[in-house]
Amino acid sequence: MAPDNHDHTLGHESIQLVNESKEFSTELLPYLQKIASSNVDNLVQPHESYHVISVFGSQSSGKSTLLNILFNTTFDTMDAKVKRQQTTKGIWLSHTKQVNTTKSANTPLASDMFILDVEGSDGAERGEDQDFERKAALFAISVSEVLIVNLWEQQIGLYQGNNMGLLKTVFEVNLSLFGKRHEHKILLLFVIRDHVGVTPLSSLSDSLISSLENMWKELNKPQGCEDLALYDLFDLKFVGLSHKLLQEEKFVNDVKALGTCFSFPEKEEYYFKKEYHHLLPLDGWSMYAENCWEQIEHNKDLDLPTQQILVARFKTNEILNESFDASFINDDTFNSELKILIDDIDLKDSLFELLKVAKNKCIEQYDILASRYNKMVYMENRAELLKKISSFLYDNAVVELSENFINKLFTDMEDKMKVRAQGLSFSEQLDDCVDSINADYDLLLDNFMDSELIVIDLKESLKARLDDLLLGKVNELRTKETDLILSRIRKNLKFSIKEQILPLLANPTLQIWDDVMSAFYDLIDEALVPFKSQDSDDLDFGIGLSDNEDKNIADRIKLSGWLTLTVMIHDYLTEDTIVGLLRDRFENKFRFADDDTPILWKNEQQIDTSFRLAKEHAMEILSVLSIVKTSDNVEVVPEIPNYLLENEYTDELGIYHIDRFAHILNELQKEKISKQFRRQINLTVLDAKRSIITSTNH
Ligand code: GDP
Ligand code: MG
Repeated sequence: MAPDNHDHTLGHESIQLVNESKEFSTELLPYLQKIASSNVDNLVQPHESYHVISVFGSQSSGKSTLLNILFNTTFDTMDAKVKRQQTTKGIWLSHTKQVNTTKSANTPLASDMFILDVEGSDGAERGEDQDFERKAALFAISVSEVLIVNLWEQQIGLYQGNNMGLLKTVFEVNLSLFGKRHEHKILLLFVIRDHVGVTPLSSLSDSLISSLENMWKELNKPQGCEDLALYDLFDLKFVGLSHKLLQEEKFVNDVKALGTCFSFPEKEEYYFKKEYHHLLPLDGWSMYAENCWEQIEHNKDLDLPTQQILVARFKTNEILNESFDASFINDDTFNSELKILIDDIDLKDSLFELLKVAKNKCIEQYDILASRYNKMVYMENRAELLKKISSFLYDNAVVELSENFINKLFTDMEDKMKVRAQGLSFSEQLDDCVDSINADYDLLLDNFMDSELIVIDLKESLKARLDDLLLGKVNELRTKETDLILSRIRKNLKFSIKEQILPLLANPTLQIWDDVMSAFYDLIDEALVPFKSQDSDDLDFGIGLSDNEDKNIADRIKLSGWLTLTVMIHDYLTEDTIVGLLRDRFENKFRFADDDTPILWKNEQQIDTSFRLAKEHAMEILSVLSIVKTSDNVEVVPEIPNYLLENEYTDELGIYHIDRFAHILNELQKEKISKQFRRQINLTVLDAKRSIITSTNH
């Protein structure tokens, strides 16, 4: 290779793209990168940014000489070879921006030109060389827009074996590559050398066209391509060049005229058309060219559209990763700001903005570089990139942000629930709060979605997370409210039970238990009345609980009523108290007449009668008090649902045994009480008798 002393912005230096051993060069990518970094405007569409031209023709037909003059390249020519006694076989590539034109100053072109020159071997070993030339032709067609077919004037019409054979190859190759789709064309530019001008160019081209059309007719066309015309796949142009040695000045002018046709898009005779281009950006072309060569070299079916898609896949994927890393992984500013903002929910909007900017930057970078590739592939990978961004942001920001947001919403809800809004029950107010939390959260998620920060299935999982937490929170608030209501009702109930039932115990009658129980049931009913719905007996504590849960609360209220009643009865009706009650009852009967006037006894017998009656009257109540039974002689059993008892309900009494409720005194206690009572009233009667004696003594 020539020493590296060229101006790379203009090109000229050539590299051996495919060597004698048919190996593809590793130099291509660096070569293109060097050019791309200084020359190629990456923003323009591929077909405007660079062009590829190859040459084709028999050995020593002056191809390299022409290319060097036309494009300012430095391909090996025979004249140079003679000096160096050496030739290097292969496919050569040279970049140029300087084309020899009729314009006096050769200003660099807007687009980059890549020129391919094929160097076959000289000499007799044609067989081996034909394989190489065939492959080179295939390759040239696969990657170029213009194929220069270099011919001597006197070759025309001769059907000279080698040359026409190769053209036939070109036809076949192009048919198999592009025939099925025929959306791609190539320009065959016939350059007729040593055209001294005796035969006009028009008759030379007519002769060529008729040979080509004949050849096309005789071609074995693959299935599906039978009806294709030559012109469906090829555009043809013909140019004559004067004899380089005999008409030197004319030759130079002819070359300049030819160069002009490659250089000015605004001119009518401009050769390049969009349909000739393979529509890959330059950064993908290297891979595309290598893939094409590998397939040709290994005699695989060369499927160019698939190759283009493969290159597009690879390249857009590479761009995807680079854009992603640049905007998220390697951007220290982004990452440090993210760390600061994520911790403070009040900075939510700034965080949101940060994520949006980073995501937009990333997508923009991807769009600029990747949109030049196959549209479908570009869009596919764009969606991939959005997914990748989405999952990165989800893990690194969105989850935390939304959890912080949820916590803030919950704190607000707790504050709101502390004060009952006017006209609303607890559960109505709670429902309102839940609705507004859902709405606020949806808004946040919609913001994420609208800015394409997350994809739809991540939205679903964020939503599910809220549902989960909200359920827990609502239950927590409901439980708290339930406890509050329960303890308030219990306290009131306890108070009213004491207030209403103690007096009944303190003044026992024979229907004491009827009175106590009916008072008790009334109080329970009273406690529950505010929670009864108007048209049915169903209870609703306004907490938003299920019917069952509401019933459970009612049961717990009843249970606590029973507990209060039990404790009160058993605490109050002690042996001493009952002795006292019996005595009160005795004294009332013994000392007072029915109209409450004190009785004055006249004799002992009268005292004995009163005494007996009063004692019986008092004793009546002892068996009544000893067991809680209604007047129809049924023992009262607390109505407490089993499931509450099974839970070993413990309160003031420890484990509650419903069957102990009714049993206040056992036989022994009754005996003790009677004995005590008898002793006391015996003293009373003694006093009474004494008082008579004393009074009669007067
Ligand atoms: P290539 O093998 O096709 O690349 O041919 P070269 O460019 O190496 O040239 C082969 C020989 O043809 C050289 O000796 C050149 O001087 C000569 N040559 C180049 N151009 C012309 C031309 O236009 N007319 C004639 N007669 N000879 C030429
Ligand atoms: Mg050559």
